[in-house]
Amino acid sequence: MAYVYLCIMRETVFFFLIFFTFSLQGQHSFPLPFIGIPVEVLNFGGDTSDVLLFNMHDNENTSALAGRVFGEKYDGSYYELMHTGKRNISFLLGEDSIHIDPNRIFTDKGVWLQLKKNKLKDSLIFQTIVTWRDSLLTALKIESRSLVIALHNNTAYNYGFKSYKPGEEYADEAQAISRGAIWDKDDFFFVTDKDQYEKLATGKYSVVLQSTTTLTDDGSLSVYCGQLGIPYINIEAQHGHLPRQIKMLIFAYRALVEGGDSGGQEKRNRHQQKKELRALIRASKS
Ligand SMILES: [Zn+2]
Repeated sequence: MAYVYLCIMRETVFFFLIFFTFSLQGQHSFPLPFIGIPVEVLNFGGDTSDVLLFNMHDNENTSALAGRVFGEKYDGSYYELMHTGKRNISFLLGEDSIHIDPNRIFTDKGVWLQLKKNKLKDSLIFQTIVTWRDSLLTALKIESRSLVIALHNNTAYNYGFKSYKPGEEYADEAQAISRGAIWDKDDFFFVTDKDQYEKLATGKYSVVLQSTTTLTDDGSLSVYCGQLGIPYINIEAQHGHLPRQIKMLIFAYRALVEGGDSGGQEKRNRHQQKKELRALIRASKS
């Protein structure tokens, strides 16, 4: 029990060490208020790459850290939305609290679904959200990116890779699934393109390919990118799985951006990845 406690303590200290190190470096931001609510769009490491890394849920801090670390030390333009530390952006309308999930407004249909969830039919609010979304997409230069990498975290309960298995809740959203050798239902890739799927499936992580025929338009960024043919992957990892999420990011980047045979490359680069992770940990302590 004491050993488990020590491990948790060590992971927590490691997390905060890196978090604050990368919180203080190379940060730029601009305001993008959402219906009167202050929202900052943060960018780490400049915007020098045509690969976009994006964390849109403000409560998914492991993703934020993985993106900051990767954007600074490797290559990739990393952005995140910052407001209240919560997943949804909320505002008051009269006496009612309205809650909008920023990953459900990338299509117009998604915006209407969000309004419906809040029992609203107001076309002015619809248009305000659409305008905000379009400003965000323009700022992220999303349509000119060679690859969009969304970073998300989930919990050990409910949603995970297994949600896409036949008969499960999101089975219709998946065209194909590939279970990786590293088995954790919460850590997986979700991609929109068959070629990406095949490249990532040669590695040790689980992969889900989004369906083009039976998917639901819920307004998420994967649907938007799928509709427009923008290369998109989502790296899902459980909250706190920071080394895993960074490793998945490095693997995906090498397989999809640098090209090559990802399976063989992964083996060849395993040693290099460990070295790089150790260097990051050292850098966070200096
Ligand atoms: Zn998320």
